Amino acid sequence: MSAVFRHPPMLALEALEDHLGRPGAAAERARLDDDETFPAGAVDDLTSFGLHLHYIPAEYGGRLHDYESAAALIRAVAGRDLTVAIAHGKTFLGAVCVWVAGDDRQAGRIAGDVADGRAVAWGLTERAHGSDLVGGELVGSPVPDGIRLDGEKWLINNATRGDIICVLARTDPDGGPRGFSLYIVDKRRIQAGSLEPLPKVRTIGIRGADISGFRLRGTVVDPEQDRVGPAGHGLETVLKSLQLTRTLCAGLSLGAADHALRRAVGFAEVRVLHGRLLIDLPAAGRTLAECYADHLLAEAFATVVTRSIQALPGEMSVLSAAVKYLVPVQTEDMLARLRRLLGARAWLRDVAADDPTGDGGDTGAGEFQKIERDHRIVALFDGNTVVNLNSLVSQFPALVRAHRRVAGTTEGLQAAGDLVRPLPPVDLGRLRLVAVAGVSLLHGLDEAADRVAVLADAEPDLDAVARAVRRLADRAGPLVEQMRLPVSPPEIPAEAFVLADRLARTLAGAAATVLWLDSRENVCGAGVLPWRDGSWLLAALDRAAAGVDDGPSADGATTGSGDGSGEADEPALDRAYATLLAALREQVRTGRLTSLFPARLAGAA
Ligand SMILES: Cc1cc2nc3c(=O)[nH]c(=O)nc-3n(C[C@H](O)[C@H](O)[C@H](O)COP(=O)(O)OP(=O)(O)OC[C@H]3O[C@@H](n4cnc5c(N)ncnc54)[C@H](O)[C@@H]3O)c2cc1C
Repeated sequence: MSAVFRHPPMLALEALEDHLGRPGAAAERARLDDDETFPAGAVDDLTSFGLHLHYIPAEYGGRLHDYESAAALIRAVAGRDLTVAIAHGKTFLGAVCVWVAGDDRQAGRIAGDVADGRAVAWGLTERAHGSDLVGGELVGSPVPDGIRLDGEKWLINNATRGDIICVLARTDPDGGPRGFSLYIVDKRRIQAGSLEPLPKVRTIGIRGADISGFRLRGTVVDPEQDRVGPAGHGLETVLKSLQLTRTLCAGLSLGAADHALRRAVGFAEVRVLHGRLLIDLPAAGRTLAECYADHLLAEAFATVVTRSIQALPGEMSVLSAAVKYLVPVQTEDMLARLRRLLGARAWLRDVAADDPTGDGGDTGAGEFQKIERDHRIVALFDGNTVVNLNSLVSQFPALVRAHRRVAGTTEGLQAAGDLVRPLPPVDLGRLRLVAVAGVSLLHGLDEAADRVAVLADAEPDLDAVARAVRRLADRAGPLVEQMRLPVSPPEIPAEAFVLADRLARTLAGAAATVLWLDSRENVCGAGVLPWRDGSWLLAALDRAAAGVDDGPSADGATTGSGDGSGEADEPALDRAYATLLAALREQVRTGRLTSLFPARLAGAA
């Protein structure tokens, strides 16, 4: 056990925070947002830090050794301004297919481009087909000097500002799973005039981002050098690449939640109502504590899934869909609760949340509404909520089959949950379209419950935690049984979506459990959030269960205690939420990240 354990991704986050310094004036961010102006200065600042190098795998000269550090860096940027995070991070999305399926020469070329600061976009979506990629009509047809691309992509981030676009094209007129290929369209190398940028599309959030599109007319690309992966394998490559990008999207939600929690706590710490600080009023304090527990659950889930890219790559088809579904949706709910807590301050554009006098001041004025507006895109792009639930449903048969055969903890699961255990090197060749062997988080749940019970025998304070983990494990078996229902996409019954939601919540609870079990000896004592007493896990499991058995709470949101914990565990839960509220206040007061792990933000003592 070490009292000075530091989670390495948080050191990367601190280095970026040091580089960026204290966030600039909120008024400037608001001005760019109002004017729908691309935040070029902030994007350039990230490039001068070298953030773009974290999008390039280490074997091609970049700094992408592990995906957790990249996720932490994206989270830090999102914690300041989501528009900037999405505008800069787009290059990872644009290049990712090359890392997944490109050959060494091609990957070296794109790595060089990204290292030189050239922005890469990802052209999948078409106006008429949205998330139905199989309907895509942009055509790639053979001509004597290469492959000729004709058609349009629309709603593409950085389509106009980007230098290179990775484009999905229909190469078999009949379409189908093997009917599409991916091509690199480098604006420097194509014939002048064969790519027409489409006008910027005005949006409700991330208003400054370059959301536009492009039309290709007879754009000729090289069939070997520019094709990413084998001919006809475009959809497969996209689906595998999305497993990485969907996982990293959680960093955008975590950053937005960090930002919103700081604003909400800042307000509740100074707002005096009925002679008391708002934060000391029980309902307000509980709301903040529950929101923080939601956030910690999301962070734990994202941490384990991100580590699974290396530890359990064959399971990422399920894990990435679950995390991309649950974390943005849960964060949206959390932001709505915090908005209600802020009251008028969330509605006013020129008054800061932590300026109770309402007489001006710059810090954070109007920021909350921007955070909430900007964040709404996270659930929508890179596979929207329904697409991810759909992906889970389509894998029900594999999960049901595997559940019968496998039980117990695997080495991969231990590596995903134990933060000091070295992860295997990244091997994107091990990503699979379907998790045929099931999901270790589900298989290991019974054993995890047994392990927590053993701990509780020695430490009776953990009794309530042990019961909560046991309830989670007991729910998993019947859930898998229910997942036997017949489905034939796209005719998916509404009931299947409910089960997919429960599956995602169960996986989140299981991820929090293994993270706590396998890392508590190392993380405890390192920061203000206690790990040893299990308080954050108890509250996180309460929140994971809350979505399953809804009921109104004091602020009209989903209640906790939806897991049938009953009155017996209420005092333990109350203590856990009180502990969390104290830790949250301390993290905000001392300029720390609102996190399971200690991390210093810029300007903190
Ligand atoms: C700001 C922004 C940036 C973007 N950036 C990019 C980019 O860089 N590259 C890119 O390629 N694309 C990008 N997109 C496109 C984005 O990924 C798509 O908009 C997204 O995939 C969803 O498509 P859609 O909204 O057209 O929804 P549709 O596919 O038209 O779906 C509409 C609705 O139908 C419902 N639905 C869909 N499928 C089902 C189903 N199977 N069962 C039941 N209901 C269903 C859902 O409620 C869904 O929201 C961006 C979009 C935006 C807004």
